[in-house]
Amino acid sequence: MGDSGGHMNASPADITLPADLRPTDGRFGSGPSKVRAEALAALVATGPTYLGTSHRQSPVRSVVGRLRAGMADLFALPDGYEVVFGNGGAAYFWDVAVSSLIRRRSQHLNFGNFSESFTMAVANAPHLDAPDVIESPAGTHPETTPNPDVDAYAITQNETSTGVAMDVRRPVPAEEGLVLVDATSAAGGMLVDPTQFDVYYFSPQKGFGADGGLWIAICSPAALARVAEIKAGGRWIPESLSLATAVDNARLDQTYNTPGLATLFLMNDQLEWILANGGLAWAAARSATSTGILYDWAEASAFATPFVANPADRSPVVATIDFDAAVDATAVNKALRANGIVDTEPYRRLGRNQLRVAVYPSVDPDDVTRLTGAIDYVVAALS
Ligand SMILES: *Cc1c(COP(=O)(O)O)cnc(C)c1O
Repeated sequence: MGDSGGHMNASPADITLPADLRPTDGRFGSGPSKVRAEALAALVATGPTYLGTSHRQSPVRSVVGRLRAGMADLFALPDGYEVVFGNGGAAYFWDVAVSSLIRRRSQHLNFGNFSESFTMAVANAPHLDAPDVIESPAGTHPETTPNPDVDAYAITQNETSTGVAMDVRRPVPAEEGLVLVDATSAAGGMLVDPTQFDVYYFSPQKGFGADGGLWIAICSPAALARVAEIKAGGRWIPESLSLATAVDNARLDQTYNTPGLATLFLMNDQLEWILANGGLAWAAARSATSTGILYDWAEASAFATPFVANPADRSPVVATIDFDAAVDATAVNKALRANGIVDTEPYRRLGRNQLRVAVYPSVDPDDVTRLTGAIDYVVAALS
């Protein structure tokens, strides 16, 4: 290293981390997140046999088939649950839910930007009643409350904008209301009991360490029955928003229109990697170890504090860490970025003096330990 680090009042871009504080991989983004080098190498190794071939033929359909079977294995899905895919990502799936899953009125827990966005999509839908909205301040989460007027309960297992996680638990039996879980940043990195949800939907560029553009929805028999009921009821549903159409295609290991083949491949590689290492329990424990390193470090730090006050609500996959006013998180992030540690910036609209660090299963906990050392080093150099 040069003599720049450790000086008083260094400017962020001039701080050079010592080699032992540099993570082997500096990607800590909440999404797109770290793609494992091995997964990318495996994609490259397919040469001319996969990318650039038809998604209606076996090389691609067999990847979709393995994904469906692997998801059933990973989440220990009961009989009758189905894994369905479509283009557009989790945000697009909100519109699919508005079209194909909510009968008349849904309840929403608003506790951050992602949960609020789904609520907004529902509130704007002319064919649905105004949603039943329960809010809580950023850094906490509300609880679902049984409401006989509601036919679907929308919850977010991990609010990626604030780093708050919540349990997935039915407020009422499925006959009285479906449980729709936005698991975009939770899936693959947090445990879940599939008997407690009807739809568990997510995108591949977070815990599954792949690329974006796709939504995946695990649907219970009650959810599949709702989809059929709404379709039969004659509601106008554009084809690309029709979950019934997506289900029909998934049963043939296909999607309604052309998916990103690289995304499917990378996602399946990650799924097989998690299964080979011990499955969801292993992946969840690995992420919890990583966030534990961050929260313990922050609790012990003179300048950092976990943003989420209640330890039970702290996300095991996305840690948000507040800094004292004396430490400028923007400058810290700039110095980290200059050293190849990227995407630790806070969620923009939360507007806090903080770092947000995603540690999905792809991230090596040893790299998280190096990151905490790197932050301490940068803060000392800046002060
Ligand atoms: C990232 C994210 C989304 C949006 O995912 P896209 O793939 O960008 O559509 C939705 N909900 C949560 C909780 C997220 O973290």
